[in-house]
Amino acid sequence: MRQVKIDFADVISFEKDLKKLKQLKNNKIFQIYSKGINPDEILQVCGKISEVFPDDIYFGCSTAGNIVDCQMSGKTTVVCTLFEKQDTRAYVFQYDLYEQDSDSITADILKKEKQTPNVKAIELYFTIPKKSTTPFCNGLKGISKGVHIFGGVSCSDDISSDQCLVFSKNGKISDNGVVVVFYSGEQLYIESINTIGWKPLWRDFHVTKSSGCVIYELDNIPAFDIYHKYLNINNDENFFYNALEFPLLYEHNGTTCLRTPVSSNKDGSITVTSDIDVGSTVRISYGDPQTILQSIEQDSHKMLNFQPDIMHIFSCAARKTFWGSAEPTYEIYPFKNISPSCGFFSHGEFMRNGENLNQHNVTLVVAGMKEGEKIAKNIPPTEKMQGISKKPLVSRLANFISATSLELEEINKKLEHVNQQLTQAAVIDGMTGLYNRKEIQFQIEQEIKIMNTREFSLIMLDIDNFKQVNDVYGHQEGDTVIISLADILKSFCFDKKISAGRWGGEEFMLLLRNTACSEALEVAESVRKLFGLAVFPNAKPQTISLGITESKGRDTIDSLCTRVDLALYEAKRTGKNKAVTL
Ligand code: GH3
Ligand code: MG
Ligand code: MG
Repeated sequence: MRQVKIDFADVISFEKDLKKLKQLKNNKIFQIYSKGINPDEILQVCGKISEVFPDDIYFGCSTAGNIVDCQMSGKTTVVCTLFEKQDTRAYVFQYDLYEQDSDSITADILKKEKQTPNVKAIELYFTIPKKSTTPFCNGLKGISKGVHIFGGVSCSDDISSDQCLVFSKNGKISDNGVVVVFYSGEQLYIESINTIGWKPLWRDFHVTKSSGCVIYELDNIPAFDIYHKYLNINNDENFFYNALEFPLLYEHNGTTCLRTPVSSNKDGSITVTSDIDVGSTVRISYGDPQTILQSIEQDSHKMLNFQPDIMHIFSCAARKTFWGSAEPTYEIYPFKNISPSCGFFSHGEFMRNGENLNQHNVTLVVAGMKEGEKIAKNIPPTEKMQGISKKPLVSRLANFISATSLELEEINKKLEHVNQQLTQAAVIDGMTGLYNRKEIQFQIEQEIKIMNTREFSLIMLDIDNFKQVNDVYGHQEGDTVIISLADILKSFCFDKKISAGRWGGEEFMLLLRNTACSEALEVAESVRKLFGLAVFPNAKPQTISLGITESKGRDTIDSLCTRVDLALYEAKRTGKNKAVTL
């Protein structure tokens, strides 16, 4: 497999160059990369190819720059790929996104893939998506295992514009479509990689509010505030360029994807290059030239070992912007000596990892192809590739920030825990686990406030002759008796209707919301009976006395408590081990 590049200058010289290929009898395809978006110019190129090679296919798209052999190529670049093996073939299909939805398109691609023998790779050329590409990507999950899928989103010189085109022998020049190329052949081998180079910085953020490509909140904070507060990026005309150094990294389908903020909006939200679901975990990443180069160098090693005949390159136009127009292909130099290559600067990149196809941004996708089992070289990575050469200062600082953030996060978690314990200690009685007196009093006061709409009852209870328990069996046994009564009271608090508190010593208070005296008496009797059955390690069974009262018109906390206390006193005075209502 090999490739021949033809720079389109004018129709006459183009025709001459094409005719030179005429004597080659190989199966061939023509890829057309056009920096221009004038359909007439593209038609001229396509028309000439059809005229000279009526039986061969062509396809292409508009781009933000053309790449041949890892260097920038002319405005309109045509690359002819020549296959050596008789059965190596390419098939092209084109779909119109105005007429078909992604479900019907992916269903058709799946059907065609099953019908075509030996499909090894599927290449995609998309126009800038008007809707999320997630359904399209998910729709291709059923493509046979092992088939590589890769591709790019067409673009134009102005990366902030959504003008773009795709076209092929089997379709019109389209501003809303997808061109799909199958590569098949028994002896065709494919390898594909995607590499980012941007590294995670700082800590995790959770997407707490988003819709499509708009992220409203990260950790409940307006997304723009994060960029402004921590990175000092302002909401001005340079937002895109400044944020490009700090895009969002997130894990999707087990793969790391990047999403670049393209604009900040008035409501504090930011628009990113593709959709991110609520619940996703993202991290701000940083792009540092030296770190990116090291990372690509390492990732290119896999392709070097594969020993491709040719490579197709899809590099995000945002990367071109990042590197600057002077030398935008500088980062792909590690691929230069591996094999001939062609490709373009894209608006988004596609790459299948495992079974999942993902749409990426700010990513470099490289697909290598070869015919025949050329033995892989297995060249050991150099020290530079292993990343043991001197780490850039920025990378060390980023590491420092992430490590200190992690420490702070752990300290915060501990503080939160201590806080929770303190809050609990303020309302809970340590020995019994019931509310303390202050809290149960507070809850009674809250009920008094809504007494006109909802009545309630109180039960005050006290262990009979408790002093004797302490005197005869000791203080510890006394504690056991108190705790076992508290446990019985807790068992009545399964819903929010009843609250139990320790009023003092061996005296307790039950607040029964929305409960009349008669019902409270039933509860009191149940508690009395249950406690009478309780067994203790040493002490004999014990009894309690209970006073009951219900809320009345002008009650205050004092009048209520006095009344329930009187009821309890009456129970004690008249023989104990009973409940008295007042
Ligand atoms: P009555 O039937 O009239 O209630 O008689 P009583 O002996 O229970 O009298 P009183 O309620 O006055 O006595 C309460 C005793 O409870 C006094 C105190 O020493 C004891 N006490 C208070 N808090 C605790 C505690 O947390 N643990 C133990 N073991 N004893 C306590
Ligand atoms: Mg007592
Ligand atoms: Mg008492």
